[in-house]
Amino acid sequence: MGRPLKIIVAIDGPAGSGKSTVSKIVAKKLALLYIDTGAMYRALTLKAMRLGLNLEDEDALVSLAKSSRISLEEKDKLNVFLDGEDVSLAIRTPDVTANVKYIARVPGVRHEMVALQRSIGQKYGGAILEGRDIGTVVFPNADYKFYLDASPEERAKRRCKELIESGEAVSELSVKKDILTRDNSDMKRSVGALKRCDDAIFIDTTDLSIDGVAEKILSYICA
Ligand code: C5P
Repeated sequence: MGRPLKIIVAIDGPAGSGKSTVSKIVAKKLALLYIDTGAMYRALTLKAMRLGLNLEDEDALVSLAKSSRISLEEKDKLNVFLDGEDVSLAIRTPDVTANVKYIARVPGVRHEMVALQRSIGQKYGGAILEGRDIGTVVFPNADYKFYLDASPEERAKRRCKELIESGEAVSELSVKKDILTRDNSDMKRSVGALKRCDDAIFIDTTDLSIDGVAEKILSYICA
C-alpha cells in the first residue's frame, strides 16, 4: 500500500503508557510508517554489551553510535536490524532494558539517533514516531503531538503481562520498581529528557482500552 498521508505524528510518554501498541494501530489505520525510537537505543545498548564496552565511557559510546547501522523494516511486523542482523528479540531482554539508560543519557549518542530518526521521517515524508523526545527534540514541528501516561500501577500491570506472555517470570512489584527507576533516569537526563510539552495533547490511558486510545488519537488527526 502507498503512504498517502504526509504527516509527522509524535507520541511520547513513559514506559508502559501504551505508546507502542497504540502507535502500531494508528500507523496501520493511516498507512503511516511506524518508527519505534526506543528500539534504536536498545539496539545500540545490545551492541555495547556484546562488545563488553564500559557503559560509562561516553567517547566509546559515541564512536559506537557513529559506526553502527541501525534500521527498521516493516513487513507484517516491525523488525530491527543492527549491522544487518535482525535483533528484534535480542533487544527486549531485561539486561538490555536495564542498561539502556547508560546509552540514552549520552548527548553525542542522542545526536546521532535524532539525526537518524529525522532522516527516516523526512525520507518517507510522513511517519508516526514513538519515544521520549519526539515532540520536544526530534520533530518539534510535528503535525500532531501526543503525550500518553497512566498510573504507575497500571503501567506495571501492562508490562508485567507482556513479560509473562514472553516467558519471563516477574512480579508486578518488581516491574513497577523498574519502571519508576527508568522514568526517573528518562526524566532527569540533561538532554532529550522525557517531558510533557505544552503543545502536546495529553491522554491519560489508565482507564482506557488500547483501541480506545487509538480512536482518540485518530479522532484528532482525522477531525
Ligand atoms: O520505548 P522503550 O521502552 O523501548 O525505550 C527504551 C529506552 O530507550 C527508554 O527507557 C529510554 O531510556 C530510551 N529512549 C530514549 N529516547 C527515545 C526512546 C527511548 O531515550 N526517543
